[in-house]
Amino acid sequence: MKKIFLLTRAEENYIKAIFHLGGKESQLVSTNAIAEEMDTKPSSVTDMAKKLAEKELVNYVKYQGVSLTAMGLEKALTIIRKHRLWEVFLVKKLDFSWDEVHEVAEQLEHIKSEKLIDKLDALLDFPKYDPHGDPIPSKTGEFMERDKQLLSELPVKSKGVCVGVKDTSSTFLKFLDKNKIALGNTITILDKEDFDDSLRIQIGDRQLQISNQIATNLYVKKE
Ligand SMILES: [Zn+2]
Repeated sequence: MKKIFLLTRAEENYIKAIFHLGGKESQLVSTNAIAEEMDTKPSSVTDMAKKLAEKELVNYVKYQGVSLTAMGLEKALTIIRKHRLWEVFLVKKLDFSWDEVHEVAEQLEHIKSEKLIDKLDALLDFPKYDPHGDPIPSKTGEFMERDKQLLSELPVKSKGVCVGVKDTSSTFLKFLDKNKIALGNTITILDKEDFDDSLRIQIGDRQLQISNQIATNLYVKKE
């Protein structure tokens, strides 16, 4: 029988960070990388890694790092599912803007009630993506990674639909709002500067010049 543990908020945040670094394949992640991600000391990470290993959520190999176990991966996907569903809820039902929701979802993702999340999922009509274009795992942990590429990788004269953001910081999202660039927009690349790889793009009837930094943080699906 599967063991059920109630995790602390700190433990959940570690699981999430390990998933973030190691991905769906649960690759081995160094304690230093986790320390950097969590903005903490490697020694604290080691302590936590031992604790999580006791709970069978990670495999901990001394001097090498940690990887999520199947149970750890399941836990990570549950937390991410909650986080992203709450983000959709905040945008769709409470009129939050997409640059405000992450911080609030960081708090809401730790609510344990499974019934609440299932009802939330149904209320939102089982969304597949969060407001930033990231996939929402289903109750059973499946999710569809979209086929997408960075706007900077698109050749000149081609078109793509904006489907996500790589940088989810509120400054970047606010910048996109200010320039009326939103998910679902079709972007045509008119020209690329050899000097700095900045792009001249067309959205609807508007033309914009955008830097390479912007183009390397926007995901599009080529048309
Ligand atoms: Zn978020």
